[in-house]
Amino acid sequence: MATHRLYYEDSYLQTFQARLLQCIPAAPFATPSGTVPAWEVLLDRTAFYPTSGGQPNDLGQIQNARVLDVHDENDDIVHIVDQELQAGEVQGCVDWARRFDHMQQHTGQHLLSAMFQERYGLPTVSFHLGAELCTIDLRGPEPTDDVLHGVQRAANAIVFEDRPVNVRYGTADELAAQGVRKEVERQGILRAIEMEAADVQPCGGTHVKSTGQIGLILVGRCSKIRQDWRVEFACGARAGRLAGEDFELLQAIGKRLSCAPEEALAAIDKAQRERDAHFKSLRAAMQQLAEARAALMIRETACGPDGCRVIAQALQEENAELLLPLATELAKTERTIALLVHKETGQLVFGQHPSAGKDLANILKKVLADVPGKGGGTRDFVRAKLADPARSVEALEGAKKLLGE
Ligand SMILES: [Zn+2]
Repeated sequence: MATHRLYYEDSYLQTFQARLLQCIPAAPFATPSGTVPAWEVLLDRTAFYPTSGGQPNDLGQIQNARVLDVHDENDDIVHIVDQELQAGEVQGCVDWARRFDHMQQHTGQHLLSAMFQERYGLPTVSFHLGAELCTIDLRGPEPTDDVLHGVQRAANAIVFEDRPVNVRYGTADELAAQGVRKEVERQGILRAIEMEAADVQPCGGTHVKSTGQIGLILVGRCSKIRQDWRVEFACGARAGRLAGEDFELLQAIGKRLSCAPEEALAAIDKAQRERDAHFKSLRAAMQQLAEARAALMIRETACGPDGCRVIAQALQEENAELLLPLATELAKTERTIALLVHKETGQLVFGQHPSAGKDLANILKKVLADVPGKGGGTRDFVRAKLADPARSVEALEGAKKLLGE
């Protein structure tokens, strides 16, 4: 005998009486607070909605037992509960806050799908109502911001008109004649949901009775999922909560930038311009410093027996930005080789004047074989970053030794 689905006739039914047909031990059930013993309960009738068609299951209570899960098994609805129940009459109570939230999101999804289809020719291929995020997957060209805003505006206009949401029954052919678009594979009498003058879609889910109860609809981000476009949305209390979180975030950003929330964008633009200007002046200062330091180092370092000048230095407590211009400056002097590392960051730059005639790329390769890191370059100029900055001096000593061979 199939379970009588009370939510089909009245999706607002929160408590109901039913006859318990069966209660048998089930596999232990994993809850957020640990795994608990569980039983499978069959009733002759139920207001509990099972997970199906993109809408999550209801929770609540049957007698004193907590309902942990509800699912379809052929024509039966199976309730998973955390206590054994005795045969006889039982009372069920649906967690209404959770269910009504699902009804708002689900009816809102119908409305949004209808707007995407009717106004922009974008069919919905699937949807998902999550605990945090609700999404619709659309097929076709990428929905632009104008499309997303247009759909949000049109859907909210129908919310404000508070149109009735009706349930219709009929065979697939009868519903098709009434404008039901979606292909349906099920046989027999089907159930369809209709928003007056907006949409008729086959659906077995639970809905609010008029569009006004959906509450405000917010359309969020759109991203590509395989060949389709996934659009996030939120309705009713959820939309209010999300808008509130966005507001708090904007307040926090304004506080951080010491400005009013509506001035945050201008303040970010200003901070970015300042950052770019600082970067430019830092680079100029580094270049000047590099030129002065290089001149000093060249003067202080004598040439070796082979006529080459090797300047090896581990820089510390200095800006790593100095490494590159300093090596470049040093390599401008004939027969000069610069080996520089930065102790804090493990950055390494080797450069030479071509007249020095070494193969720095080959030397770096050998150094990195001993001291792990990533890098590369040409015969005359190489850069690398060591995996462990603490081994900077070791890498420098290794390179010096290789130069002497
Ligand atoms: Zn539906």
